[in-house]
Amino acid sequence: MRGAPDGLLGAIRAARDALPASHRQLLHETGVHEGLVWDWPDGVIAMYATLREPAPSPDDLDGAAAAWLRERRTVVFNATALAQTADGLTPAARRSLIAGVAWHEYGHALSVVLAGPEQRERGVQLLELLSPPMREAINYPGRYRKSQVFDEVMATVYALMIGGVPINGYSRPEFLAPELHAAFREVFPWPSIP
Ligand SMILES: [Zn+2]
Repeated sequence: MRGAPDGLLGAIRAARDALPASHRQLLHETGVHEGLVWDWPDGVIAMYATLREPAPSPDDLDGAAAAWLRERRTVVFNATALAQTADGLTPAARRSLIAGVAWHEYGHALSVVLAGPEQRERGVQLLELLSPPMREAINYPGRYRKSQVFDEVMATVYALMIGGVPINGYSRPEFLAPELHAAFREVFPWPSIP
């Protein structure tokens, strides 16, 4: 069954509600909100029509399930692609797919606010510590510029850490390199290990 807009937004909101309270507070203070875009990427580019900032290029958006639009403080979701990918999944698998995408984008929104320029210098070094499939998903050099790598790594680790809470609690999952985990903890306020 094709995911109705309400169902998609509901799953996105549920993912946001599952974040630690301090992160939800920061997203609220930053004014982060969500939007569904059915005509991707044109609908995203159209959102920039009234802004002075340049819109992301169609190449940047190509194939993405979602994007964090810093200038608009909006996480936009590629509704058509998500609905297609979620088609035929069980409700639980669908929720988990959408939550993973949403947590990655909230990770971006938070990393932009929380990380400083010195931390961002370490992007490429930290990228090397990700597991091969995750490293390849980031596709640097190629899709991303050097200055974007840190936030991309943090968003990836953020989605992993949030998704891992039901399994690992707030502690470091074994497959996550200690140095990468330490970099994550430097950026994100994180509940102490129980
Ligand atoms: Zn990203």
